[in-house]
Amino acid sequence: ERAALTALAAAPVVLPDGREIAVVANVGSLADARAAVANGADGVGLLRTELLLLDRDTFPDEDTHCADVRAILEVLGDRPVVVRLLDAGGDKPVTALALDPVQHGFLGVRGLRYLLAHPDLLQLQLRAVLRASVGHRVSVMAPMVSVAAEVHALRAAVDRAVASLDAEGVAFAAPEQVGVMIEVPAAALAADEICAVADFVSVGSNDLTGYLMAADRTNPEVADLLDPHGTALQRLLDQLCAQANAAGTPIAVCGEIAGMVDQVPGLVARGVHELSVAPARIPEVKQVLRALPV
Ligand code: PEP
Ligand code: MG
Repeated sequence: ERAALTALAAAPVVLPDGREIAVVANVGSLADARAAVANGADGVGLLRTELLLLDRDTFPDEDTHCADVRAILEVLGDRPVVVRLLDAGGDKPVTALALDPVQHGFLGVRGLRYLLAHPDLLQLQLRAVLRASVGHRVSVMAPMVSVAAEVHALRAAVDRAVASLDAEGVAFAAPEQVGVMIEVPAAALAADEICAVADFVSVGSNDLTGYLMAADRTNPEVADLLDPHGTALQRLLDQLCAQANAAGTPIAVCGEIAGMVDQVPGLVARGVHELSVAPARIPEVKQVLRALPV
């Protein structure tokens, strides 16, 4: 049965109303990328670049990071890939950066905050990713965005990377789109302001739930509070999706709820056009979508 599901999974999903839903993969390694293709992924909705640094004790140089990203893009071929910029801090220590757990904890300088505070590192990563993008379809996405001003700063950084590569005559491809994760409740509530400056948004429901419930996602003692069916999260998703739809900004989901069979119908009903899930979840998510009533 699994084999039949997998064979069917390679085809794109079109809902009875004609909307195409992309079912894409969350990846963090070459093995994940291969599993994504094997399971019929329409692309990658979340390449967690911090996972590429897991076994490094120093931060890679631009050429090395470029080669690491390119190796993954080669596996994906011409499928669209969303490269998430480094998400350091919070639950993601990144050994190579030796981060202080408090300063860079869940409420500290993490995600895009860290990148904007370290412009050289941000440029290194952007240049590496844009160089790796030649011949592929790549968008970049920032983690842990709280306010629209951070997105303006991100766009300026992307423009700067493009300009520097251009000036040097280095081969690169500008990102197809510049998007942001919505994983901070403030960003979800003021999504209209963020959508005005982002090409797309992607809901990081894992962190969003944790911050909304004031419950640490790594602490099993408070795991019950992280129920994805909770009233507050569901209302926040309603508001967030309504704002993105009103702005005409594409909205994806890349947190765990995107792969939950009982959440998928509600997400697409809210106008979500892309679900990014663990590679092994793709066949079942596509099956659920294909079985949705007219
Ligand atoms: C999330 O927070 O939902 C997410 C997809 O990102 P990560 O799990 O890598 O923090
Ligand atoms: Mg997150």
